[in-house]
Amino acid sequence: MERNRLVERDPKLKKDDLIVIAGAGGFIGGGLVRYFHNKGFTRIRGADKKPLPEWYQRVPGVECLTIDLSAEENCKRACEGAVEVYNLAADMGGMGFIERFRVECLRSILINTHMIESAYRAGARRYFFSSSACAYNTELQQDPKGRALKESDAYPAMAERGYGWEKLMSEMFCQEYWAERGLKTGIARVHNVYGPWGTWDGGREKAPAAICRKVIESLDTGDHSITIWGDGHQTRSFMYIDDCTKGIDRIMHCDELIATPINLGSSELVSINELVSKVEKIAGVKLERRYDLAAPRGVAGRNSDNTFIKKVLNWEPNTTLDHGLRETYEWIKDRYHSRKQGKRVVE
Ligand code: NAD
Repeated sequence: MERNRLVERDPKLKKDDLIVIAGAGGFIGGGLVRYFHNKGFTRIRGADKKPLPEWYQRVPGVECLTIDLSAEENCKRACEGAVEVYNLAADMGGMGFIERFRVECLRSILINTHMIESAYRAGARRYFFSSSACAYNTELQQDPKGRALKESDAYPAMAERGYGWEKLMSEMFCQEYWAERGLKTGIARVHNVYGPWGTWDGGREKAPAAICRKVIESLDTGDHSITIWGDGHQTRSFMYIDDCTKGIDRIMHCDELIATPINLGSSELVSINELVSKVEKIAGVKLERRYDLAAPRGVAGRNSDNTFIKKVLNWEPNTTLDHGLRETYEWIKDRYHSRKQGKRVVE
């Protein structure tokens, strides 16, 4: 791959330049729409295959397309006139989903393949792809106390079956579109994200949201117990959504990072047991813990090594888990009780 290409300076992104966000009905895509809207961008187009009432967030003044982006024609339509394209669309979920639905995860390759080609043909200046920590070699993640993952740990490759391999291949598309065709691409290896407006029920939710919901449920039913997937010793780091959207913006607009996968995650490591304790503390309760050893649990340990992002961006995701979990807990509690009262809520 050509690494020392001379990077031509972009004109500064104007407030009325068209920004396209794929997966805008989902958690991070929806957060990114709101982020750019709050920054004063006036032409944002969101696209997602979900019907509009199921989009997690609707931001006034944003164009919303309900289309399936695994079809090339629809990607062309989504990218028309775009100056920047962000691809956050993928069929994904927590461990319960990605271990069970590998075909769905692999098929997300169609979305990125058509989106990047359409962005290129539309003359977009920059293209962003949300890769994942699941792209890393799983053999390096067998120990809950193992070292944090750095960018070079993706190869030799032994990614998470299905989901992780799709991410690795799509990263490669982004690198080669830059090398061969000069499209400026940003690639973030996103580590677990949580926060308000995320999936919190239904099978695709991730550990922080699932634990918040279970604690709320057990208080509500008076059961006072919680079922934890695995033995609770698995370790992870969790990034708050606001850090994620800010990080995507910074990575996308840093010339040093063109076509260069970089970790975007928190480096605050916790075990699942510790995560449960934090949520119990917020809720002011102690629950009896039951461990479901047959449930999907993923790798034993995973953390983000942030040496590279700190060096290049002089920044790393820094919202504490205590702060972010409190916000998330209150948000899910509100949804839970609204749903119980028969109000329509998106899960
Ligand atoms: P999400 O499931 O909330 O959002 C993804 C959205 O993509 C959904 O709204 C879905 O309807 C849409 N989508 C799926 N297939 C589509 C298709 N064919 N056409 C159009 N839209 C389609 O997930 P998220 O948490 O917002 O994740 C966004 C991206 O970030 C994904 O690429 C994901 O792999 C990556 N990522 C997320 C996390 C995390 O912790 N949330 C971690 C690592 C990587």
